[in-house]
Amino acid sequence: MNIAHLSYLRCPTCHSALSHMSGNDETGWVVCDAQHRFAIQYGVLDLLGPARPQSLAAQSNEWPITAWAYERLWRPYALSILSGQSFPLTRELDYICGDIRQPRVIVDVACSNGLYARAMQTAYRDAQVIGIDRAWPMLLEAQRRARRARLPISYVRADARALPIHDRSIDVITVGGSWNEMEQGDVVVQELTRISRPFAYLRSMGLTASDKRVGQVIQGLAASGGVHFPAPDALVSLLAAYDWSVTNQQQHGIVQLIKAQQRG
Ligand SMILES: [Zn+2]
Repeated sequence: MNIAHLSYLRCPTCHSALSHMSGNDETGWVVCDAQHRFAIQYGVLDLLGPARPQSLAAQSNEWPITAWAYERLWRPYALSILSGQSFPLTRELDYICGDIRQPRVIVDVACSNGLYARAMQTAYRDAQVIGIDRAWPMLLEAQRRARRARLPISYVRADARALPIHDRSIDVITVGGSWNEMEQGDVVVQELTRISRPFAYLRSMGLTASDKRVGQVIQGLAASGGVHFPAPDALVSLLAAYDWSVTNQQQHGIVQLIKAQQRG
């Protein structure tokens, strides 16, 4: 946790400003103007409290084995498997990090192991990067990976539907593959819009409904575990409703990549 990043964050309960109370960026306490207190443990700021995941997909993110395996065994191959073509991680990260002018503050929402957060901090060394997720084991793994790469990213435990971030304070938002596990995507987009500065950038990767029979059967099974696959135009329509202009959209199999920019 980079203590300087507290200036971008707010209390999830009363929305007042947060300040450092005691300890250091590894272990300590943060307090809001109304004296709500939050712990920093293992370098991660917990603004959520006890875990309350709702779906099986969300619960699985709370298992340490998922956090361990996610970037080691799944993420490098995910887009090639899901798109049905060779789609190396470098191609995905080039897309996500490209076409952005001098960002100051970047937030990776539902960041898992912080893949996009690290790519952004590497691409934009002077930017302040914050990763947010609900799953504690994912955040611990993200923190370990950032520290190993010597990247000063802050990781914060919070809910994407109630982001603990001040209004109009963020230049770039990334969402990587997490739309499919989110409850209430419309509330999340509303929050992303609230925290965005005018002309902020959004970079998104998500999975859409399959038009193939086998894919539909698999996606139907996944739905019972809380993973859902919207129609390809669903997110685009949702973003448009919140004043986001989609500047680029790519569909590779069920993989959907989107670049959008907030209207001024
Ligand atoms: Zn408070």
